[in-house]
Parts: sequence; C-alpha cells; structure tokens
Amino acid sequence: MQFRSYWHDTASPFAGAASGPVEGAYDVAVVGGGFTGLAAARALAMAGAKVVVLEAGTVGCGASGRNGGHLNNGLAHSFIAAKAALGTERAIALYKAFDDAVDTIERLVAEEGIDCAFRRAGKLKLASKPGHLDAIARNFEAVHREVDPDTALLGRADLAGEIGSDGFHGAMLSKKSAMMHMGRFVTGMADAAVRHGAVIHEHAPVTARREKGGRHLLGTPRGSLSAREVLLATGAYTSGPFAWFRRRIIAVGSFIIATRPLSEAEIAATMPGNRTAVTSLNIGNYFRLAPDNRLIFGGRARFSATSDEASDAKSGAILRASLARIFPQLADVEIDYCWGGLVDMTRDRYPRAGRTDGVWYAMGYSGHGAQLSTHLGMIMADAILGRSDRNPLKDLAWPAVPGHFGKPWFLPLVGLYYKMLDRIQ
Ligand SMILES: Cc1cc2nc3c(=O)[nH]c(=O)nc-3n(C[C@H](O)[C@H](O)[C@H](O)COP(=O)(O)OP(=O)(O)OC[C@H]3O[C@@H](n4cnc5c(N)ncnc54)[C@H](O)[C@@H]3O)c2cc1C
Repeated sequence: MQFRSYWHDTASPFAGAASGPVEGAYDVAVVGGGFTGLAAARALAMAGAKVVVLEAGTVGCGASGRNGGHLNNGLAHSFIAAKAALGTERAIALYKAFDDAVDTIERLVAEEGIDCAFRRAGKLKLASKPGHLDAIARNFEAVHREVDPDTALLGRADLAGEIGSDGFHGAMLSKKSAMMHMGRFVTGMADAAVRHGAVIHEHAPVTARREKGGRHLLGTPRGSLSAREVLLATGAYTSGPFAWFRRRIIAVGSFIIATRPLSEAEIAATMPGNRTAVTSLNIGNYFRLAPDNRLIFGGRARFSATSDEASDAKSGAILRASLARIFPQLADVEIDYCWGGLVDMTRDRYPRAGRTDGVWYAMGYSGHGAQLSTHLGMIMADAILGRSDRNPLKDLAWPAVPGHFGKPWFLPLVGLYYKMLDRIQ
C-alpha cells in the first residue's frame, strides 16, 4: 500500500514552475497554488494582468490534490437550513453558484483541453438510517421546488440499480453533479495559467508581508517581490503572516483509501450506478469509482488536525472497517492507496470570499470546494480587475472562532459530540 494521494500518483506533475529567485513587481500576487489560486491566476493572466503564484510546496500539494474527486452541485448543507442561516436570496445564490461551478469546470476542461475524465455522473446522498430519509425527503422537496428540478428522491427499492449495499434506506439524486481526475485537472490548470502568461513559483512560502507606497511586499526564503493586489488562496494550509485567517479557518483532517481496480463483476455488485455517493451520518463516508475502477472511499474517520503517514494509517484502518460494513463483498479487497488532507472548515461550514485589510481571499469550503474553489478563483479575479462582482458570499460576516488561534485543540470534543449524535439520531 502506498501512503500517497492516488491523484498525485497517477497524474504528470506540473513541470512549468519558474526557476531562479522570487523577485519583481507584479499587478497581482496569488498566494497558494491549489484550485482557487490557479483558476484566479489563469483568469488574471488572460485579462492581461502581470500575475505571480507563490506556492509553499508544489502545485496541488494541498487539498486540491488530495480530495475525494467529487464535483457535487448544490449545497452540502440542507437547503432548508441554508435558507434559515443565510436568508432565502443568498441561499439560492450560493446553491446556484455551486451549480455554476460544475459548469465552469466543464467549460475549463474543454477550453484548455484537460484530459481529466470529467463526467456528469450524478450524486447520491444516501440515508444511513430510516429517519435520515425523512430529512432528506423534506430537503428534496424544497430543493426540487425552489432551486434544482434536476433532482430525484429514490426509495430503498430504487437503490438496487445504484449501489450494492443493504446499508441504505433511500437517497436524493442530484443529476448535475460530476466527477473528474483531480490531479490531472490541477496540472492542466497550472499549465494553462503559465501558457496564458502567469509565473508560478513552487517551494516559495510567503513568510513576510508588509505594505509600502500602496503596494504589498511579500517575502519568501527564495527572495521577495511586490504586488499591487494580493489574493490569499491558502485554505486549510494557511501559513505565514496571515493570522487573521487562521483564527477563522479550522483545519480538519479527512482521509481516503483506494482499492485495487475492481473487476466488472465487482463493480456490478457494488457501484452499478457509477455515481458519486455521500452518506448521511455526521461522521459519514464519501465514495466513487476512479477512472481505472478503483473504489475511492473517504471519510473524516477521526477528528484529527493532522494528516501524516501515522495519522493517515490510523484513519485508513477505520475507513477499511467502514468500507467492509457498507460493502461486505469487498471486505478482503486489497487497498493500494491511503492518504489524507486538511479541510478548511469554517464554524458554520459556509465558505468566505472578499477583501480584508487590503488582501483578497477565497477559502473555507469546508470539504465541499473542488468545484467552488475553481469558480470563486475566477470570480475573485473579476473583482480584482474591477469587473462585475458575482461573489455570492459578498459581505457575509466572518467572526473569529472563540478560543481558536490556529491549532484546533477542541477537535476531539467535536468528534465525540458528532459520534454521540450519530448514535442517537
Ligand atoms: C481529503 C479531502 C477530501 C475532499 N474531498 C472533496 C470532494 O470530493 N469534493 C469537493 O468538492 N471537495 C473536496 N475536498 C475539498 C477541496 O479539495 C477543497 O475545497 C479545494 O481543493 C480547495 O482548494 P484551494 O485552492 O482553496 O486550497 P488548497 O488546494 O488547499 O491550496 C492551498 C495552497 O496554499 C499553499 N499555502 C498555504 N500557505 C501558504 C503560504 N504562506 N505561502 C504560499 N503558499 C501557501 C498550500 O501549500 C496549498 O498548496 C476535500 C478535501 C480533502 C482534504
């Protein structure tokens, strides 16, 4: 078994990073080379801006190269809850932004000729308990009526053609949802950004920032540069002189295992519908087939703030047991990959995008951001360029998490709370 992201292992690495020192004067510096930063850099460069990306590690080394591979449309929250929390207008705007985000990715894949197996697979939100189906049905009715007619409610009997498991009581199907190879998309987007004129520095963590004469001076161990505007696209991995964001983002580990490629017979017995799937438990699971027919099976597993080989291995063992519970027919299947990554949770699990203290930002996707990060990166590029502002999160308040200064000491307690909820609800 490899302790490495399947997406990293099966994509060509990005080979277009700039060599030499970090220096010069730019219109825009983008900090972070994941989906948010790369999509913004590409759009800014296409508009003629002089743009640089400063990435602490390698392009896609954060959540963008480590996720579950789902491009789900609509909200991860219940739409009913979103209306109560955000108001109807913003809840609808945010739901539609996720829909548009999947369209954006489909368009980018076509425009840039990225070979990443993008497919409108549809998503199943699976009810793990009978009572959960009632909540899913209530949500479905509101979603279907008010914002997304491309949805369906499936009863237990309808699941036979979808999923080979007795563990579920029904599901909501969101037909616009998609899936793709995340690693190939990351590399394709970085190549495209460079092709359009952006400069990308890897191994260039921003460690210092100050403002002088209306410009930002950004320091890295490999030199420093100046920029008129800065976009922070650092998600859960935010390091360096950005403490304001670390008080608002809670970095939570999420973990994934990938089986060996399944045979046609095994696929027919486990995932005949070949869609993305998410279970309804608080500490639930998400899964899909890879382009080479492995089952990619993820979940929070433990509420851990770290993802390294030791932490990933512990979570991998828990995931293997969950996989065997859902699909007993795969209890002994070989696991070829085990990896983890950090999710940029906000307290209310809604993302944030805007500008504070002279810095533009888009982050806080809370585990549902492969599509929206790409889309918001482009929306923030438009805002920086002074074009029409399409930001669905504009002016959404973002208070600091009380008692949180960057290391989420409270995660084990949150984990216990959700475990208890999963037992009683
Ligand atoms: C295990 C896992 C599973 C997930 N599954 C899904 C899924 O199936 N579907 C879905 O929609 N979403 C999923 N997500 C979430 C999704 O991957 C993220 O929302 C999305 O990739 C965020 O992209 P980003 O560019 O904002 O952040 P990232 O990809 O995390 O990029 C941030 C980058 O900033 C860099 N950085 C940080 N600080 C600095 C600094 N000071 N200087 C320079 N660079 C810096 C980091 O090195 C990193 O590369 C998952 C996430 C994880 C971890």
